[in-house]
Amino acid sequence: MEPNRIRDVLVGKTYYIRTFGCQMNLHDSERVSGLLDSFGCLEAASPEGADIVVFMTCCVREAADQRLYGQCSSMKSLPPSPSGHRVIAVGGCIAQRDGEGLLTNVDNVDVIFGTHSLGHVAELIARSFEDGSRQVFTPEDVQDEATSLPWHRAVSYHAWVPIMTGCNNFCSYCIVPYVRGREKSRTIEEVVDEVGGLVRAGVREVTLLGQNVNSFGRDRYGHPRFAELLRQVGDTGIERIRFTSSHPKDLLPETIDAMAEVPSVMPQLHLAVQSGSTRILKEMNRRYTREQYLDLIDRIRDRIPGIALSTDIIVGFPGETEEDFLETLSLAQTVGYAQAFTFIYSRREGTPAARIEDPTPREVIQNRFDRLVKVIEGTAYDFNQQALGRTIPVLVEGFSKKDAHMLQGKSPKNQTVHAPLPEGWTPEDVVGHIVDVEADRARTWYLSGTVAGEPR
Ligand code: SAM
Ligand code: SF4
Repeated sequence: MEPNRIRDVLVGKTYYIRTFGCQMNLHDSERVSGLLDSFGCLEAASPEGADIVVFMTCCVREAADQRLYGQCSSMKSLPPSPSGHRVIAVGGCIAQRDGEGLLTNVDNVDVIFGTHSLGHVAELIARSFEDGSRQVFTPEDVQDEATSLPWHRAVSYHAWVPIMTGCNNFCSYCIVPYVRGREKSRTIEEVVDEVGGLVRAGVREVTLLGQNVNSFGRDRYGHPRFAELLRQVGDTGIERIRFTSSHPKDLLPETIDAMAEVPSVMPQLHLAVQSGSTRILKEMNRRYTREQYLDLIDRIRDRIPGIALSTDIIVGFPGETEEDFLETLSLAQTVGYAQAFTFIYSRREGTPAARIEDPTPREVIQNRFDRLVKVIEGTAYDFNQQALGRTIPVLVEGFSKKDAHMLQGKSPKNQTVHAPLPEGWTPEDVVGHIVDVEADRARTWYLSGTVAGEPR
């Protein structure tokens, strides 16, 4: 379809995007909305007011599948859209995995587009509007470079910057390599140019994204160049750099050095451990032992004292025993995580782990999960105490949902920080700015205090 024709069909249509899952999906949604904007569409505040509803889906755990089916079906009872015709589009990992098969679970989807076909979404939606047809496009090989599409950033001061897509690791429980394909890195120049442009546009913080950022460049240059990338991104003048995710087996000493030496790399690292038991780690195909992980943590802490460490942990991997689980608990306690994303294992058809039988009762797994959450709450609380009495530079993101005068933002260590908006200041004075907060209260999931000095 000619771009002008797509524009004729889409101009003035309203759209709403609901995103499930990881930051990569959040960023893909920003590309979809950038593309729809470029054809004259307008963002709506809710699905009710939208002619186009897009669901960006995740298939990492089963609960996400069920939530998608529920949400799609609920679209049937919405009042008519402003134009009188509503198109429902499903993208992301479930769309890539199921393709047309998605229709066996939900029958009111008009457009299905895969993870490698973001660039086609406007055309697919326009075709569906034009003749009421159902459009399915989920090629397995990479069709277009999502990173070259227009981009509608959710906020002005922060940007997600994908540095690579796909994953080569094939952890035995994980569906991601099957739906996102193999690792494909952008060039260093492309990423650095993009961050430079963002700095000029007023962005203060970037999060570099990839399933395994430590292996950035391996596919393109023959060896990883993530440390070099961090140094060059640091030279752009961006104030804060974060990145996710890091695989422990690929975190090189030179990357730890770059983290320690580049002032804009924030003192924070997300390093998924998944389990504290070497036996389970082997079954998971993670390719490191408990001891290697703990040794890595020691080396990181030696170079970057006080760093905030966060992680992902799976409870109830098939065959996990109480002894294995106790090793996870003790590892979490030893590391003293500032934060952890904890998941109950979810069987994903097509992965090697899905073939392992597991007689462990659900209540046992739930009980382990609850015990792990308690340990993490303890380590997060302890970690936050170290901030008491300190002055913390906070990048303000907005205001607390419970109190419209309580500003909310992030510390360098990625802690949520609250402070009352000083008398006479307006939200515009602070949102997207850095303010110093003197921390006088440290809870499990946030710090609070009072603002000192002027926003900058
Ligand atoms: N590539 C990232 C890494 O290795 O750190 C993680 C990406 S994955 C989308 C996010 C997290 O989901 C994983 O770290 C893992 O803890 C969890 N996860 C993946 N597959 C899962 C499954 N089948 N059941 C439960 N949790 C799972
Ligand atoms: Fe999944 Fe492992 Fe790849 Fe992360 S590294 S996306 S957990 S296969």
